[in-house]
Amino acid sequence: RPRVGVLALQGDVREHARVLTDLGADVTPVRRPAELSDVDGLVLPGGESSVIDKLSRSFGMQQPIRDAIAAGLPVYGTCAGLILLADRIVDGIAGQQTFGGIDATVRRNAFGSQVDSFETDLDVPVLGEPPVHAVFIRAPLVESAGERAEILAALDDGRIVAVRQGNLIGTSFHPEVTGEHRFHALFLDTVRSA
Ligand code: GLN
Repeated sequence: RPRVGVLALQGDVREHARVLTDLGADVTPVRRPAELSDVDGLVLPGGESSVIDKLSRSFGMQQPIRDAIAAGLPVYGTCAGLILLADRIVDGIAGQQTFGGIDATVRRNAFGSQVDSFETDLDVPVLGEPPVHAVFIRAPLVESAGERAEILAALDDGRIVAVRQGNLIGTSFHPEVTGEHRFHALFLDTVRSA
């Protein structure tokens, strides 16, 4: 059974743990460097990226996570988690940092106040049929993806909402809240083959 951690500083940790457990993973919350070194993959949950960033620094987790990413640890981030995986961020709070790893620029809270939250069906070629029912909650957008980042999904107007680079996957939306298991399954495939 793949051993997978969910970074448990803030955010929808329990929803991720449920999906991963359903898929047969051995799931553990991660708050400390020693817990990080015990897992074969890590999920960065949805929540508030600026809070997770600050807490990760005060818990001494930022550098260990950066090192783990550089060493090839598979990581899947949803929403705030996608922001934390991006090399560059637009509209972060003052001084906000990311772990980085995906060659992309992500705009935080990209959908403004009126369509803060919405749902749509999304074609995701790597997952095949049926389309993914995607829930966006004060979601970020991938404003530009660099050459090393692979685009996994975009809205009808072309705006990018899912990317992958090596062992890293990021989605603007939250499969963990809709019963959609295929992104987590893709992540677990990455964990098994890493
Ligand atoms: N707006 C949040 C942020 O900046 C992300 C929201 C979410 O994770 N649902 O981190």
